[in-house]
Amino acid sequence: EYQLDMSRIQSGGETVGTVLLAFDVTEQEYAERNRREFTANVSHELKTPLQGIVGSAELIQSGMVKPEDMPRFVGHIHDEASRMVTLVEDIIRLSQLDEGDAMPTETVDLLALSQEAVANLQDAAAKRRVSLSVDGDHAPVTGVRRLLYEVIFNLCDNAIKYNVPDGTVKVQVSSENGISSVTVSDTGIGIAPEHQSRVFERFYRVDKSHSKASGGTGLGLSIVKHAVQYHHGDIRLTSKPGEGTVIRITFPAAAR
Ligand code: ADP
Repeated sequence: EYQLDMSRIQSGGETVGTVLLAFDVTEQEYAERNRREFTANVSHELKTPLQGIVGSAELIQSGMVKPEDMPRFVGHIHDEASRMVTLVEDIIRLSQLDEGDAMPTETVDLLALSQEAVANLQDAAAKRRVSLSVDGDHAPVTGVRRLLYEVIFNLCDNAIKYNVPDGTVKVQVSSENGISSVTVSDTGIGIAPEHQSRVFERFYRVDKSHSKASGGTGLGLSIVKHAVQYHHGDIRLTSKPGEGTVIRITFPAAAR
């Protein structure tokens, strides 16, 4: 992989030439740069809610908060602290996957997991006037139950969060030709082509304010991708802005 850098040579305010530099970016440098970027992102993402917490606590301490405003301030501290907990949990999950720690596996039915995830998300869906349903066949996979549950939960959660009022989310499970799969289709806002491959990157969000308002950390899809790869599976995304998104995950089927 090469990194290109172009510099203009200027003389008296005029461009008289250009120099093109090509650097060979080795795998190692690339990983190193990713790590630095990740640390910078984490620090920033943690600092913002912390500043909110410290600010609110200082105002309360100073006695400047009226009693009737107290619940609002305490609520704010609670929300910001919860944000940090979610973020730290996501970071721990990612680092476990990065380390490739061996986790105990068992035969898991993707249909049962999908039904469980959908049941746990019905309230969230109803709040946004989104209809959420699941159907299909039993689909056995050898894997880490908790991770596979999180994968399906995350995909459904996104499909609800980035939907429109009166939209729908359909989860279709199947197992054929030695492949077990889950397809999550939504009628939501969709993802423009230039963002489609990038949404799996850590902290990448198409619309930061929408993501934050729905409690997103920007780590969900990168955890999903890692967890799918951990199970030797595959993930495919197709999407059309204004129409919706379909994400399909496939795994080698386990013997029934
Ligand atoms: P977040 O915590 O922001 O939801 P994710 O990693 O889960 O982070 O997703 C990254 C970004 O991809 C989101 O911020 C959103 O912009 C976009 N995205 C994910 N799922 C969908 C979807 N079903 N429809 C539209 N956009 C989506």
